[in-house]
Amino acid sequence: MLGPTLLRASRNKRLRDVIERNPLTRKVVTRFVAGQDQDAVLAVVHRLHSRGMTTTLDFLGEDVSDLAGARRVRDQYLSLLYRLHEAGDAERSEVSVKLSAVGQSIPKDGHEIALEHAHQIAVAAAAVGCRMTLDMEDHTTVDSTLAIGHELRQQFPLTGNVLQANLRRTAGDLAHLAGSGARVRLVKGAYREPESVAYQRKNEVDHAYRQGLHQLMASSCYPMVATHDPAMIREASDTAQRCGKGLGDWEIQMLYGISAGLQAQLVRSGHALRIYIPYGTDWYGYFMRRLAERPANVAFFLRALARG
Ligand code: FAD
Repeated sequence: MLGPTLLRASRNKRLRDVIERNPLTRKVVTRFVAGQDQDAVLAVVHRLHSRGMTTTLDFLGEDVSDLAGARRVRDQYLSLLYRLHEAGDAERSEVSVKLSAVGQSIPKDGHEIALEHAHQIAVAAAAVGCRMTLDMEDHTTVDSTLAIGHELRQQFPLTGNVLQANLRRTAGDLAHLAGSGARVRLVKGAYREPESVAYQRKNEVDHAYRQGLHQLMASSCYPMVATHDPAMIREASDTAQRCGKGLGDWEIQMLYGISAGLQAQLVRSGHALRIYIPYGTDWYGYFMRRLAERPANVAFFLRALARG
């Protein structure tokens, strides 16, 4: 019950203002968000690289509905890529871009604007040897996001797409991508979706995730298994072995601040692990989705408030 309520709240601007003004709730946010600016995130990136992990960076923001805002997000990625290069960390990094932050949500020509901005980011990423993956947002954006991924791969074959196991359409999308050799990140899905398009029960989503893993491992795609669920990681390892994929032929991805013990263990056992690191001041939507995934996070958040 709590999850759907929090996901509804993630689009509530008034609640967002209340949380943003409160210094105590901001402190809890730092568990999931690496920092507010590039200096902070670059320090985290360097630390994780020195521990044998790779990274993917998300400049927080979504649903940007004006062109000037979309350009600001694009510019942030361009300067981040330059600084990653200067720091010697570009080749072990990736940028994760939400197309709704670079123009997709603009009512007129949003798709074309997002494509243009994503293309500019892809040019800059390729120039410094960094990769790029397009995050997937709610189901209304899937066609546009897959089409932009497809378009970018004509020039930048390493551009990744994300598929969400909770969406009923995903098996078909995976079949469509199977022969493309694309980098594909498989997630369970973080958005509240209607029953007509998405599985609602956890066991259905887990079943779909397993099916997706089998499809992905058997395909020519590079699998990016994005989950903290140990059962899914075991399933991914077993399936990879059955499909003749070695440890360098696929990777596991996890979010900054979640399952740190498991992250260290995976690196020790020789798995390729990439950490998704969000940064920036527009943390609200991202933070609420992390709370919604786990009731214990809400308790943690409320305890911090009570301590104040
Ligand atoms: P769950 O069954 O939800 O969790 C398994 C276990 O992981 C839990 O028991 C708990 O121990 C731990 N855990 C999971 N979530 C949390 C949390 N918030 N706090 C603390 N512990 C937790 N979703 C999208 O819709 N689009 C994207 O583009 C996208 N990109 C992602 C990129 C990465 C690298 C990752 C890891 C996730 C991404 N997600 C994305 C989120 C994803 O859809 C899930 O919502 C999220 O990963 C939780 O699902 P899970 O697979 O970890 O499994």
